[in-house]
Amino acid sequence: MFRPKGKKKERVKLSKDSVQKAKRIFKYLKPYRGVFFIGWIFLVLSSSAGLFFPYLLGQLLGGEQTASPGMAQSNTSWIEQIDFNNINTVALMLLVLFVLQSLFSFFRIILFTKVTENTMRDIRKEAFSKLIYMPMNFFNKNKVGELTSRLSSDITLVQDTLRTTIAEFFRQIIIIIGSIIFITIVSWELALIMLATVPVMAVIAVLFGRFIRKLSKEAQDATASSNTIIEESMMGITNVKTFTNESFVMSKYRKTIEEIRRLNIKSGNWRGVFVSFIIMCLFGAIVFIIWQGLHMTIGPDATLEKRDFYSFVMFTVFMGASIGSIPDLYASIQKAIGATEHLMELINENTENDIYKGDDNPTLKGQVSFNNVSFHYPERSDVQVLKNMSFEVNSGGKIALVGASGAGKSTIASLLLRFYEPNEGTYSIDGKSVDQIDIEHLRDHMAFVPQEVILFSGTIKENIAFGNPDANDDEIEAAAKKANAYSFIKDFPDGFETEVGDRGIQLSGGQKQRVAIARAILKDPKILILDEATSALDAESERLVQEALNNLMENRTSFIIAHRLSTIRKADEILVMEKGQIVEKGTHDELINMKDGVYANLNELQIQ
Ligand code: ADP
Repeated sequence: MFRPKGKKKERVKLSKDSVQKAKRIFKYLKPYRGVFFIGWIFLVLSSSAGLFFPYLLGQLLGGEQTASPGMAQSNTSWIEQIDFNNINTVALMLLVLFVLQSLFSFFRIILFTKVTENTMRDIRKEAFSKLIYMPMNFFNKNKVGELTSRLSSDITLVQDTLRTTIAEFFRQIIIIIGSIIFITIVSWELALIMLATVPVMAVIAVLFGRFIRKLSKEAQDATASSNTIIEESMMGITNVKTFTNESFVMSKYRKTIEEIRRLNIKSGNWRGVFVSFIIMCLFGAIVFIIWQGLHMTIGPDATLEKRDFYSFVMFTVFMGASIGSIPDLYASIQKAIGATEHLMELINENTENDIYKGDDNPTLKGQVSFNNVSFHYPERSDVQVLKNMSFEVNSGGKIALVGASGAGKSTIASLLLRFYEPNEGTYSIDGKSVDQIDIEHLRDHMAFVPQEVILFSGTIKENIAFGNPDANDDEIEAAAKKANAYSFIKDFPDGFETEVGDRGIQLSGGQKQRVAIARAILKDPKILILDEATSALDAESERLVQEALNNLMENRTSFIIAHRLSTIRKADEILVMEKGQIVEKGTHDELINMKDGVYANLNELQIQ
């Protein structure tokens, strides 16, 4: 089950299960495995070549001769013919090494980037195509903001890992293993002393560093929460003042700043210990080894050549750095495995296409019936939202849903659109159970005009064409005319090409609604669901919107969630709802004449 867990990226324990799930990423790498493999070859080459760097550097530092040596004997191998005591030869070799390494690294980076970017494109595509086809309940369970930020941070983590972290991790491992082999060959005694001190110190230093980072993170969190107190009290300053709560807020704030002080001092103290530790132990250990090693190079019975000793020191420094970087790299890989597991979970979720099996594509006329439908939201099985609802509307009929907020009107709209399934009872269209009808085919024949119209960023034309992306300009204009939107659109300097949405101009509530109506007209649905806007429009907008709605409803089965009774006088049937049940049913005239009827009372209230 896909669960976003807030913004914090938890590090997962590397369990068999999580690794198993994360392994599914290989499916996405598979098409690029050839390039990936070549990338790995370059990685191994560049890392192995990297091992020569500390070696040659040591030889260079410890080398003494500059003159060319005499011809070596011809029966020795080429490597034995190289005089590592000659600094010119060594410098030249270093140069060759850099050329090789730069070539290897270049190809390693471009090949890894190529594979990563191709893979990430495929994963992004798959993740979004899953997301957009998720059933409605998925969006109830997951907050949209959290979902998107989680997704993008998961993808970034996987991307960084594929592109660099894995390569870096293996490079360091190669350096560590290669260094150990080299120093053991040079002097196993010195190697033993070194291995017993430097890696241990390096690991302690890293863990110590992490502990200090944790402490300063705590201090940062405390600072953030104290800032929240300031922000909240400033935003709600009228409340603070009217309740004369200044001193209460002040004491809350005082507590948090005291905590910040305490945490910062604690982390400062530990930082002091940390720095002393580094100076004493880590540097101490290095000096100790150098001192030991130098002893081995001095005197007539010296066991170590000076330049080999220098190489030894270089390897030690390189290895120390590599060991130090391993914990963080490992942590990044762990995080990436968590992120991959998460992404794979999302990709393996069931979409609407997996859930809705119906595949009939009948010609729909728009006769709709609900038979004893009961429903509760999947996440709230304790609250029965609809109870035994039955109604029927003929093709082209108009049904109005009336009732207090929370009565279940929008829920009916959601069920009609099959955002959810009834728990009991049946929902059929033209006498056919909707289970048998292909979900996209069904929704193709429906349109929904919501209370709060959301326009996408783009032009007005694109927003109308959302109802039917294949429509041509004439059809779009005709729809705008029917929706009473044409004249205001034409009044904009850019007409239909006017940008709306976040970066475009702001339309008024009534204008947005007419764009949404044009969108629905263009879609030309058989079944229409209107959620009447609650916010009052001025009389003129109201008239234009109402007229547009009347045009839209013509010859279509329409469900109108009504907030103003004046707009539904002509409905064929009005369903009056209370707590998920139909309490009254009839035409306007029938209902207002019911003595003590709910509708009659509502009508009285609205007339007053
Ligand atoms: P209306 O449209 O008549 O105001 P709704 O259909 O929106 O009523 O809500 C009916 C009931 O269902 C309310 O009690 C509401 O709290 C609950 N409800 C609405 N949407 C959800 C949801 N997504 N998850 C859980 N409960 C919901």
